[in-house]
Amino acid sequence: MISSYIANDNDTIIAPATPAGGAICVIRLSGAKAIELCDKVFHGRKALKDAVAATLHYGFIKDGDEVIDDVVIGLFRSPHSYTGEDVVEISSHGSRYIVERIISLFRDMGVRMAEAGEFTRRAFLAGRMDLSQAEAVADIIAADSRASLTVAATQMRGAYSAELQELRDKLLHITSLLELELDFSEEDVEFADRTQLAELLNTLHDKVSSLARTFALGNALKHGVVVAIAGRPNVGKSTLLNIFAGEERAMVSDIAGTTRDTIESICNIDGVTYRFIDTAGMHATSDRLEKMGIERTEQALRKAHIILWVCENDVCNIISDLDGFIPNNEQKVFRIINKIDLNPNKPIELQNCPYPTLGISAKTGEGISTLIDNLSAAVDTSTAFNGDVIVSNQRHYEALHQAENSLSSAITALKNNTSADLMSEDIRQVIYHLGTITGEITSEDILKNIFSKFCIGK
Ligand code: GDP
Ligand code: MG
Repeated sequence: MISSYIANDNDTIIAPATPAGGAICVIRLSGAKAIELCDKVFHGRKALKDAVAATLHYGFIKDGDEVIDDVVIGLFRSPHSYTGEDVVEISSHGSRYIVERIISLFRDMGVRMAEAGEFTRRAFLAGRMDLSQAEAVADIIAADSRASLTVAATQMRGAYSAELQELRDKLLHITSLLELELDFSEEDVEFADRTQLAELLNTLHDKVSSLARTFALGNALKHGVVVAIAGRPNVGKSTLLNIFAGEERAMVSDIAGTTRDTIESICNIDGVTYRFIDTAGMHATSDRLEKMGIERTEQALRKAHIILWVCENDVCNIISDLDGFIPNNEQKVFRIINKIDLNPNKPIELQNCPYPTLGISAKTGEGISTLIDNLSAAVDTSTAFNGDVIVSNQRHYEALHQAENSLSSAITALKNNTSADLMSEDIRQVIYHLGTITGEITSEDILKNIFSKFCIGK
């Protein structure tokens, strides 16, 4: 199943690489005929075919005698280009009309519109990058915070690939020793020292499982840390959400049950995207709409990384059992005592509460900066900003998980003195799963699935 994807990889393809409406549009061409065909419509100081690679050229794009636009062309020659093919990047004025005219000139000469992600797919097929790096390109384009960008950039620049390659080399070394034993099986020899083998397998297992464990953080950094704001009606949840939103995003009133649906607001704190979700107040109700709202609150609570359980500074209203919701071990819960402006001298009620407690006033803003500091401290970004490899892709996580299982079974096989061939099979499985991450092992379906999610022109 080695790279069996067969696209029409010989055609020359074209697509705008920038969205419509900007001052300048970059139109990208890639393929064996890119330079030759561009010379037919580009009129500059010299023909592109005679120009040195990695240079810029000013001139006109003409349709017959008609000048369509003044352009600057970036010229790249195979294999030193993004796709590994000859690439021409035309920077024209950003008018939709100009872009359409230029593209249709090339289409008339037989150039095909690129599919989503096709430039990057070609880069992968040409060996310019491995699959995990190609996937990181899409993540970089989608990055909306310093943290999500850092995670994607580390992956795109190859730190992840290098770690996987190192693991793979060690595994290949083990299989080669084990297979040597198989060749000499009649003679009952052991080329692979069993103690060293056990050490190596354990080290690899720890490495793979620690990589897999980074996924929880990577996923939160990539898609945003989900913070559910929950509690009884009227405690000030929507007022708190509005602070993070910086506007009246959620309706605030003293009527219990004002918030019926969950409302989300995105906010960047210290380079990390947080998705605050305001929820309907938890309480027993017979109102059908409110009941639906409370169900959504429960859903929001389940997917939250952080829960802000809001209450008032009043013993009767202090709920330490989160109204029946049981957080999992990964979730961080804060009890937020709101409306401290109403009774400034009253000490904050700490009774019966297993969670860190903070006093705030969503009305006056008191305590909010401490709350923000706590939210920031709840997400450990030090590894990400340090450039450590953090897994943020579900597909990679699943492959790592499978690799981890196969390593466990190899370790068990070794403990039980199982024959070299069975152990070797487990290790081959590990190599296989790691290979799916970097794309050494892949299939048409996987590639289609990955690249179809890219934008056109990338
Ligand atoms: P929710 O039902 O939990 O979403 O609560 P709301 O945000 O709608 O607020 C309920 C009522 O409490 C409104 O009248 C708010 O103005 C008021 N309120 C919210 N936060 C504070 C606060 O910190 N201090 C005071 N004094 N009133 C607040
Ligand atoms: Mg509300």
